[in-house]
Amino acid sequence: MSHVHDLAVIGAGPAGVAGALSASLTGLDVVLIDAAPRPGGQYFRHLPEGFHARRPGALHHGLDRFTRQWEALGERATVLLGHRVWAVERADETITVRCLEGDREERPRTVTARRLLIATGAHDRPLPFPGWDLPGVLTAGGAQALLKGNLVVAGRRVVVAGTGPFLLPVAAGLADAGADVRGVYEANGRFGLARHPLLAAGKAGEALGYGVSLARHRVPYHGRQAVIEAHGEGALTHVTVAKLDAAWRPVATRTVECDTLAYGYGFVPQLELPVQLGCATRADADGSPVVDVDAGARTSVPGVYAAGESTGVGGAVLAEVEGRVAGRTVAADLGRRVRPLPVLSRRRERLSAFARALLEAYPVRPGWQGWLRRDTLICRCEEVPLSAVREAQELGATDARSIKLLARPGMGWCQGRMCGYAVACLAGENPLAPRRPIAQPVRLGDLAALNLSPLEG
Ligand SMILES: Cc1cc2nc3c(=O)[nH]c(=O)nc-3n(C[C@H](O)[C@H](O)[C@H](O)COP(=O)(O)OP(=O)(O)OC[C@H]3O[C@@H](n4cnc5c(N)ncnc54)[C@H](O)[C@@H]3O)c2cc1C
Repeated sequence: MSHVHDLAVIGAGPAGVAGALSASLTGLDVVLIDAAPRPGGQYFRHLPEGFHARRPGALHHGLDRFTRQWEALGERATVLLGHRVWAVERADETITVRCLEGDREERPRTVTARRLLIATGAHDRPLPFPGWDLPGVLTAGGAQALLKGNLVVAGRRVVVAGTGPFLLPVAAGLADAGADVRGVYEANGRFGLARHPLLAAGKAGEALGYGVSLARHRVPYHGRQAVIEAHGEGALTHVTVAKLDAAWRPVATRTVECDTLAYGYGFVPQLELPVQLGCATRADADGSPVVDVDAGARTSVPGVYAAGESTGVGGAVLAEVEGRVAGRTVAADLGRRVRPLPVLSRRRERLSAFARALLEAYPVRPGWQGWLRRDTLICRCEEVPLSAVREAQELGATDARSIKLLARPGMGWCQGRMCGYAVACLAGENPLAPRRPIAQPVRLGDLAALNLSPLEG
């Protein structure tokens, strides 16, 4: 049998790195696994080799701290970057993590550990609307990733739209990088949390910085407005912006010219691996399923822990705190002497309360469904229009799963990561946790090999 680590951590974002470091500082034998070639997750992105940003910390608050953690971890733990985890299994007190290592010619690799910490983060949550499949329309996270990870400005004349405070760093980053940002269109109220007592949880300064940056570049920030249609022959040329009522029904419209739309309606936690293991989930303040954990980051499955956005969307700072809590709990559960740190628990509670308040202040309201036409694509991968979803419902499909089986939304390459939320809303239900026996695309040969003989690490 291959070497059994004390702890395997999946995800090298702020939660996973903090969890792995906290556990390894107590002397545990830790292995950290991530699909990406560099650490940092969605927030701390790295430029390609040979590129240098003029002000590396400008787009990443806390980069120095993360870098110190990463360097300290490298001296203590095994790090496996470029390893996509497609399955996890638990048997006889041991957890088996099945990965594919490498880029094109992937090699199967198995990691075993006594404990598992899942810190797989979240992905963007777009909503469909007419024209969202045009070149030039991309998610806010995608625009941010291009900027932070490649120093690429997504377009020249950019509109930023959707809901939530994440729109602010995206717009400010694009404007600072030279884009003509035509406006930020927030579908909820502009100052949802301006007077919230917890804004002081370290976020006020950051929010002010984005505000100053937008003001310097004369970028208008509109509340209760949304992009409800994108137009262009082959590429984006303009968008229809609507003033919205409280339920997000359009009350007046106008046109804004642009070549790029960066938009997003929050994030969806990645739950494939915890669901594979049978971890219980709960509905977060916005109705999204998240892994249910106790105050020590333990899931409902013995030996399995979760931290960061997979347990609820709350930002990089909260993810790091949750990771630290998880790493320390694992160490304590494995018999290490761990000094209680009430200050850490209090910080976590404060930041979690703020995260809940954010989700409540920036909800997705049902009126967006009225922006759709019968020919609007709901699933871009399988090119499923709204009419096909409605036909499936007329045939008797009453939930997202039966709509998927009849009309194929969510059957394509992204496996419903982009359209799953919308299809659930159209079906009139809360989004459910994904039930996929395989978390990542995997070759038939690797599956076949798994059946014939156990993979060796
Ligand atoms: C596209 C995008 C851009 C964002 N940009 C910003 C921003 O600019 N500013 C901001 O404040 N917040 C941003 N956020 C939110 C921010 O990413 C989170 O608050 C924070 O990064 C959460 O940390 P985490 O450790 O929970 O997860 P993440 O940072 O998301 O890290 C999760 C890690 O898990 C790895 N992973 C996931 N699944 C697997 C698997 N099956 N196998 C192996 N590895 C896996 C991923 O590669 C990733 O490195 C962004 C989110 C997204 C989705």
